[in-house]
Amino acid sequence: RTNEVGLDPPLSRSAAAFLREQRVVPGGSMRHASWFAPHPPYAARGQGCWILDIDGRRILDCANNFFSLVHGHAFPPIVAALTEAIGRGTAFGLPTEGEIALAEALAARNPALEQTRFCNSGTEALLAAVKGARGITGRHRIAKFEGCYHGSYDHMEVSLDSTPANWDDAEGNPASVPYAKGTPPAVLADTVVLPYADADRCAAILRRHGPGLAAIVLDPHASKAGMVAMPAEVIAAVREACARDGILLIVDEVVNFRLGFAGVSPLFGLAPDFVTLGKIIGGGLPVGAVSGAAGRMAVFDHAAGKPRVALGGTFSANPLTMAAGLASLAHYDAAAVARLNALGDMLRARADAGFAAAGAPARLDGMGSLFRLHLGTRPVTDYRSARPTVAEAAALPRIHAAMLAAGVLLTPNCSGALSTPMTEEEVALIADRLVEACMATEGWR
Ligand code: PLP
Repeated sequence: RTNEVGLDPPLSRSAAAFLREQRVVPGGSMRHASWFAPHPPYAARGQGCWILDIDGRRILDCANNFFSLVHGHAFPPIVAALTEAIGRGTAFGLPTEGEIALAEALAARNPALEQTRFCNSGTEALLAAVKGARGITGRHRIAKFEGCYHGSYDHMEVSLDSTPANWDDAEGNPASVPYAKGTPPAVLADTVVLPYADADRCAAILRRHGPGLAAIVLDPHASKAGMVAMPAEVIAAVREACARDGILLIVDEVVNFRLGFAGVSPLFGLAPDFVTLGKIIGGGLPVGAVSGAAGRMAVFDHAAGKPRVALGGTFSANPLTMAAGLASLAHYDAAAVARLNALGDMLRARADAGFAAAGAPARLDGMGSLFRLHLGTRPVTDYRSARPTVAEAAALPRIHAAMLAAGVLLTPNCSGALSTPMTEEEVALIADRLVEACMATEGWR
């Protein structure tokens, strides 16, 4: 007899925890993205690049809490910084010197991050940047790229899961497709969707809608667009529209800040009005931030009275997050960035060589320390081409499960991020296990 999650008794501790959690948490997992069948292992502790689950299994962590842990788990300098900070109190409703230090650390890495406001998540950072752009321009419509994920703010969710049945509008342009049930029609009307890899179409859409746009939101290496680079021609079309029509550019670096010491914008020749940050800048604690030149950030300035756009939050710039973030960035200097990016290159090269040797039509895309598995031989250039076929969509969860069985945790769509405790040894293990997991999975080749 199997139990209600389809597992044979006796249950592992993780399976039992999942059953218990389902009674009090809808779906039995706090986060949609961290659920996979039949249930995730429950974490007990982490050390370096390894997680120990509550059944005592060691798992090599390539998910790194959705790319937010660049130093893995319990990184000693972060533990020390937190231990020191926690004894001084956790929240004051007053500013602390920690927020100055973290904002200064960001500005020192990239002068374009001249001023920063902290919040508690990347979602909030995007919301703040969009509100800031609206406050400055007096316009309310925004543009974003098809399929790209920027957190769960209504406008940012538009087109997140569009399908061939609904992704074109009557003119063959990407349609504003709702994601969450109950998305207000006004959100769709106010969100223009751009193609990630078609510069001419992108330019034409922006020529039509540009004068009404407050902002264009862009991630030049977007995970849901395949973790491939946005073409330079598309970036040029965006730049031209911003200059012509007075649209502000918001670059979402929540994930990709880790790709360069100064973040990802300089790597793509982008000069954003606002940069949204999160993940690694909080050292593993909840964080978000919006940064930009002082002239732009003045929209959030309340010193002279009421700001044009309020950006508050009970726990924003929390002293623990500031301490952990500072330690995280201090140990992610230019040499550490270069080393981790080189490990990523090695990972992709070794996996791709393994796929080629096995005659498997698969490859590892990505950049620097970020990677994503693509099944099939078609070139991946955008959300549409990155979207798995029916057979690939059936195989990916089984590859994910095979990786977990082999002791390697990826995100559910088989992407991952390296962390600084990793060495060539772990990277070789990830590549080899990945090729083995793909070869052991039937139905996609
Ligand atoms: N932007 C990007 C590119 C992301 O990948 C994410 C989260 O994964 C977000 C924004 C939202 O960040 P958070 O989950 O901290 O709200």
